[in-house]
Amino acid sequence: MDFRLTEEQELLLESLRELMRRDCPETYMKECYENHEYPQRFIDALTAGGFGLLGVPEEYGGTPADTVTMMLVMEEITKNGGPHFSFGQPLSIKDMLEFGSPEQIEQTMTAVKAGQAAFVLGFTEPQAGSDSGAIATTFQRRNGKVYINGHKSFMSNALRAPYMLCLARDADETAADKRQAFSMWWLPMQKPGVKAEPLKKIGWHMLDTCEVYLDDVELTEKDLVGKEGDGFRQAMINFEAERLLIAAGLLGSAECAFEDAARYACQRVQFGRPIGDNQLIQLKITQMKIKIENMRNMVYKCAWEIDNKIPVRISSALAKLYCAQAAMEVADDALQIMGGIGYTVDCRVSRLWLDTRVHRIGGGTDEVMIHVAGRAILKNYR
Ligand SMILES: Cc1cc2nc3c(=O)[nH]c(=O)nc-3n(C[C@H](O)[C@H](O)[C@H](O)COP(=O)(O)OP(=O)(O)OC[C@H]3O[C@@H](n4cnc5c(N)ncnc54)[C@H](O)[C@@H]3O)c2cc1C
Repeated sequence: MDFRLTEEQELLLESLRELMRRDCPETYMKECYENHEYPQRFIDALTAGGFGLLGVPEEYGGTPADTVTMMLVMEEITKNGGPHFSFGQPLSIKDMLEFGSPEQIEQTMTAVKAGQAAFVLGFTEPQAGSDSGAIATTFQRRNGKVYINGHKSFMSNALRAPYMLCLARDADETAADKRQAFSMWWLPMQKPGVKAEPLKKIGWHMLDTCEVYLDDVELTEKDLVGKEGDGFRQAMINFEAERLLIAAGLLGSAECAFEDAARYACQRVQFGRPIGDNQLIQLKITQMKIKIENMRNMVYKCAWEIDNKIPVRISSALAKLYCAQAAMEVADDALQIMGGIGYTVDCRVSRLWLDTRVHRIGGGTDEVMIHVAGRAILKNYR
């Protein structure tokens, strides 16, 4: 097995490291976090550096990249203290590029080229979290128009993104298989009838997350994305690569927390010697390192499998599950090593600790990952 990076990957990461040093200093991240502000300046720098179009097919003006490279970039951003959401649009727009109409694709790409999130992912509702089949938002045809009614919950980017990719159920459904009642709609966030109210979260302060109320939002047939009744299948083509992207971001933030804590362990003197001289601290450092190595192996291998067209239903769910838990443990140990200072906003480990926690919930909870992987693993033994 060859774990060496290619020359192109080395060069790409070196230019990214330079960009991170210049455009993503910790002082700026801290300021954005404290003010609950989107880090626009950093996103603009990533876009200008070409990272916003990395992974987008050439026909849409992008620079193709394999999955391993995409994951290396994600890891490098969070390893240097950047936020998870700042990279990966090319993966999340995949369903639009595959199923969107030429006009919808153009609208998506206009946003991506400008460094904006193109759309809000409109799945979750108050009664439909892990159970997407319980989605109650409806679409209904009246007088040659289509009307959307419902309530979406936890909509990230709802204050900024121009569209919502809205999963809705046919109000007049008769389908025997209820999953065929769901379709995707391209819903402009500025339309009358759309109301977004931000949630007050304990972390993830650089990105808004909102309740979104949809009250008779008027669309037309051209706003359907892909095929009617195919909403779930279309949504799922992206899940596995997105799970892996989350895992890669978690790997980077675990490395970031680890390095801050390791440096601190060498500097902080108590009882006349650096705290890192104590075996209890060395035990933490060693276990953190093992977890990071495991995370890296799972992420890189799964990325390699995707690039080699090997099915990753199991390995992407395992990577997301393991990395979400291990990164949380690493961040928690890092905070413990830093003692009281770790519990203040002056220390970035406190931000990593808060922001890591969400990934055991978002993008599919730990329990859902166990459900996905567990069923698939056992299938091989029946
Ligand atoms: C900050 C943030 C941003 C988000 N952004 C978006 C977004 O942009 N778009 C979007 O659509 N969604 C978004 N979400 C929603 C996220 O996807 C959901 O929170 C997640 O899917 C879980 O749903 P839930 O919160 O309703 O929990 P529930 O599904 O109600 O689950 C509660 C608990 O029960 C467990 N559970 C549920 N079912 C089972 C089962 N069968 N077996 C065992 N345990 C089970 C869960 O694992 C969890 O521990 C976001 C969430 C957060 C916190």
